[in-house]
Amino acid sequence: MMMRCEENDFRCQHPSYEDFDKITAGELSNPIDANSLVNMSKYCMKLPVDNDFVIGDMGYKLFLKVLNGQSGLYHLWIDHEHCGDHDTHTMLGVYVGKGPPDIRIASHIKERWPHVVDLYATFNPMKNRLSKYYEQLFLDSYNFILNRVENTGTDKLYAVWDHERHFMGTHLNEVSNISKTQGFDDW
Ligand SMILES: [Zn+2]
Repeated sequence: MMMRCEENDFRCQHPSYEDFDKITAGELSNPIDANSLVNMSKYCMKLPVDNDFVIGDMGYKLFLKVLNGQSGLYHLWIDHEHCGDHDTHTMLGVYVGKGPPDIRIASHIKERWPHVVDLYATFNPMKNRLSKYYEQLFLDSYNFILNRVENTGTDKLYAVWDHERHFMGTHLNEVSNISKTQGFDDW
């Protein structure tokens, strides 16, 4: 029997990033594998990009505020499929970038994100030198529809998240803690 994800481009079980990992293993003494970067990132949140549905002050700026002062590698994602057979969410990478994530991601949203499309962002803090390296390797390995320059990669980059990572994300508590919106009374 074919599993749902097998019919749809990418198997959600044991996602492989073999070519990418081979390169980092050859070039770095302590490589971070792609699975850790895209599927186990420190930060992973769905960002409320549609102002019509924002509750109180809980817009995307607040969701990004918890990253204030940090720097590193970030990715932007959209839904690719929900594999009901394995209860996973496969995500398609649409952008990779580096720098202060709160500022950069906010400007992507403001300048060119279609507000009807759900947006997910992941982020891994790292030194600028390293985030430059990983950004370039992602661009060399994968095609991102929103990266317009230096993107020679041709494969699609998929991430696979479980329901909790997809639905709740990693920082919902931190976001609610800095929100001035207190519970349902403010709706
Ligand atoms: Zn599956």
